[in-house]
Amino acid sequence: MRVFPNPTGAGSLWFDNLATADGTPVAYDPQARAFVPSGPFCANRDLIGCNWIAAAHGTLCHSCVMTALAPDTSLPGARHNWAKTEAAKRWVLDNLGRWHWFRPEDPGVRPVFRMLAEGPTPVAMGHVDGVVTISVAEADPVLITTRREALQEPYRTMIGHMRHEIAHMLWWRLSLREDFLEAFRSMFGDERTDYAAALNRHYGSGPPPDWQSRFLTTYASAHPHEDWAETAAHLLHLTDITDSVVSAGFTSPDIPHPGWDPYAEPDAIRLIRVAVSLVMGINHVNRAMGLSDIYPFVLSEAAQRKLAFVHDWLRRGAQGR
Ligand SMILES: [Zn+2]
Ligand SMILES: [Zn+2]
Repeated sequence: MRVFPNPTGAGSLWFDNLATADGTPVAYDPQARAFVPSGPFCANRDLIGCNWIAAAHGTLCHSCVMTALAPDTSLPGARHNWAKTEAAKRWVLDNLGRWHWFRPEDPGVRPVFRMLAEGPTPVAMGHVDGVVTISVAEADPVLITTRREALQEPYRTMIGHMRHEIAHMLWWRLSLREDFLEAFRSMFGDERTDYAAALNRHYGSGPPPDWQSRFLTTYASAHPHEDWAETAAHLLHLTDITDSVVSAGFTSPDIPHPGWDPYAEPDAIRLIRVAVSLVMGINHVNRAMGLSDIYPFVLSEAAQRKLAFVHDWLRRGAQGR
C-alpha cells in the first residue's frame, strides 16, 4: 500500500485516515488514488468509518456499494466488526485496482459481498458465482485467536480472508474467458473433481506428506480451487508487503531501483525474489518486538511457478487482454 501526501498541508496520510494529524477531515478518492480535502463523503462514513468519497452526497462509495448484505448491527460488536471488515475490503480492492480490477477500465462484473455477523453457529465464508460471504465476527481479536488455535492457522486474518475469497471470485471471472481454464488445469489440476469429497478428505486425513514441495499451505492441497485461492492470496500478500516497504521509504540492496513499483513489475520471479528478501528482514525486525514472523511461509519451486501463473493472469485479466 502506498503512503499518501496530505492535500491540506505537510506530512503524509495512511490509507485508513479520516483526518490529518491536526484534525482536518480528509477522504480517499479511489479513482485518483489520492486523498482529497472534501467530499462528497461515503454515506457510511459516520456509521463504519469509511473514508472513501462517493459520487454524490448521500450515496455509498465504490467499495461500500458492493456490500449487498450488511450485518445486523443490533448484535453485540457487529458494527465495530463490520467497520474493520470493510476496512480490510477497501485495502484489498485498492490493491487489486493496481492491476485494474473493478476500476472503470474493467468491463467485467464486480463482486457482491454478504457481510454476516455470527450467532452461536459459525458463518461459512466462501464464494459462489461472484458473491463473496464473509463473517465479520472474525474481526474480533478473541474469536480469531480462538480459531487460529483450533484450526492451526496462525496467520488467519481478515485481510487474508478478503484476499482468499476475492481470489475465488477472480478465478470465476477468469473462467468466463476462453483461454483460461485449460491453462489453469495444466498448472493446478482439474477443479471439476468432487469438492466436498476433497474437503472431507483434507479435514479427515490431513495434507499429503509432501505438501510443502507442491503447495504454499496445507489448505491449498485440499482442492485445485483452494490451491488457486491460497496462491493468489499469497501473491497479494507478497506484492503488498513489498509495495508497503517501498512506499514507506525503506531501501534495500534487493530493491531494483528507486521508484520501482512492485505492482508494475512484469517479472513475477523477480518480484518474488525481492519480496522474500524483504520478508526475511522484517521477520528479523518482528522478533525484536517478540512478535511472530510477518511471513514464515517457504516458497518451493512449484509454489513459485504457481505464484508466477497467478501473477500473469491477475496482471492482464481485468481488461480482457
Ligand atoms: Zn464507503
Ligand atoms: Zn477457499
